[in-house]
Amino acid sequence: MAKTTLRVVVIGAGMSGILAAIKLQQAGYTDVIVYEKADRIGGTWRENTYPGLTCDVPSHHYTYSFERNPDWTRHLPPGGEIQAYFERVTDSYHVRESIRFNTEVVAASYRDQRWHLELADGSRDSADVVIAATGVLHHPSWPEIPGMDTFRGALFHSARWDHSVPLAGKRVGIVGMGSTGVQIVSELSAAGVAVSHFVRTPQWIMPVENGYFPEQERAAFRADPELLNRTMDFEGYAASVDAYTQALTNPDSEVAIAMSTACRENLQQGVHDATLREQLTPDHEPFCKRLIFSPDYYQAIQRPNAHLVRSDIRCIEPGGIRTGDGCLHELDVIALATGFRADQFMRPMRIHGRDGLDLETLWAKRPVAYLAVAMPDFPNFFMLNGPNGPVGNFSLIEIAEIQWRYIEQLLERLRSGEYRAISPTRDAMEAFDSERVAAAKKTIWYTGGCQSWYLDAEGIPASWPWSFSKFVSMMREPEWRHYQLTTE
Ligand code: NAP
Repeated sequence: MAKTTLRVVVIGAGMSGILAAIKLQQAGYTDVIVYEKADRIGGTWRENTYPGLTCDVPSHHYTYSFERNPDWTRHLPPGGEIQAYFERVTDSYHVRESIRFNTEVVAASYRDQRWHLELADGSRDSADVVIAATGVLHHPSWPEIPGMDTFRGALFHSARWDHSVPLAGKRVGIVGMGSTGVQIVSELSAAGVAVSHFVRTPQWIMPVENGYFPEQERAAFRADPELLNRTMDFEGYAASVDAYTQALTNPDSEVAIAMSTACRENLQQGVHDATLREQLTPDHEPFCKRLIFSPDYYQAIQRPNAHLVRSDIRCIEPGGIRTGDGCLHELDVIALATGFRADQFMRPMRIHGRDGLDLETLWAKRPVAYLAVAMPDFPNFFMLNGPNGPVGNFSLIEIAEIQWRYIEQLLERLRSGEYRAISPTRDAMEAFDSERVAAAKKTIWYTGGCQSWYLDAEGIPASWPWSFSKFVSMMREPEWRHYQLTTE
């Protein structure tokens, strides 16, 4: 059967959109366009530029498997290097030409076996296939703190860092103790900035090394890619990912106990003052919220220029933050490291599937997707890092690559000309989601009783609730009986 030329639209030129563009090109898809609402690639790494921005996945594991990077300077990659890596890969694989920047897709609807797209500038496009690579954590969550608009100084969200505001000699307040708040406080404290950290819920911190790769080692990696592979032990890392996911799904497992002990010892040994240690002691078990990996937070918060504030925020006033104990913490700058609305995905894009079915209707209860990649009645529409997909704390690059290998197999059934439309059946979707919810209720994110962005509106963890190895095996190839394949 002759191969059909499919027009494929990818939405988003972040890590997973670039991946899709490269893979489509390599597989010989010639009619591909990537719509990117911003003027640059990079997604989360373009939008987050806060001081101390780092990825807590080790550098060499936070790269595409097909494009290792001998040039990482640190064991944990700094945000700027990650952005530069994606820029370089975009150019070296010649996918920049397929990206249409400053072009936001505002609506997509499936009619007459095609996706009809509406762009923000009023123009239109259509495609056989849509790949939504719009990311997970990209809608900042703004807390509702009374008086926020009365603040005299500069106030911004961590994902909208205002670099025009000088910090030297200023009093800076950081709100939030997720990975972001911890990284910012660590950096500002080391830089000698007077920083107050407003922490509503202390979190457990897993110690981690963040050493340098000296130029000599980087040169050796450049000269011998096999040396890089051997040194980084990619298989060993995959095994540790699996062990970690077992800890999440079984808090009594050996690895869970070992990691919990490491967190507790880190706090015990890292914080000398008993009162401060008490203030930094979480009221939940390790893993209950997303575990934070930091080499230096405890050291940072103990410097004389850093100050922990545990009393709840009552309001923001022109001069600073007033806490529940009545104290006014005078500040010049406030940065809200208050996280993201993780339930948005492609929204606010308006998406209508077969017979006009609205995505909002399908997602009325919670975002759902069969295996996180596809939805019934939304034929030929696939997602990378879609709902309930993230596996543990681990590299979303690896997850996206595994998902892509799966999606590619669905696309082949269309490209071969055998079928015009493919989507999971409603039964498959419902069976998958109810098993997922049942398993999610056994994870520590649910049983631990913590609040976190992992939980959906009903308190169900919106995450892959099984082990990494189960993810790998379920994504190996589609179970075709779970799909509706149509020729018209
Ligand atoms: P987050 O984990 O959702 O943490 C938000 C923080 O803000 C929490 O400490 C929360 O306190 C606090 N908060 C929210 N509203 C508040 C209010 N009204 N008053 C006081 N505190 C308030 O957000 P994040 O740190 O930006 O991290 C989000 C995710 O981004 C991470 O889990 C991770 O997936 C990703 N990330 C990754 C890295 C990395 O190194 N790989 C780095 C940064 C971010 P409560 O706990 O009390 O709600």
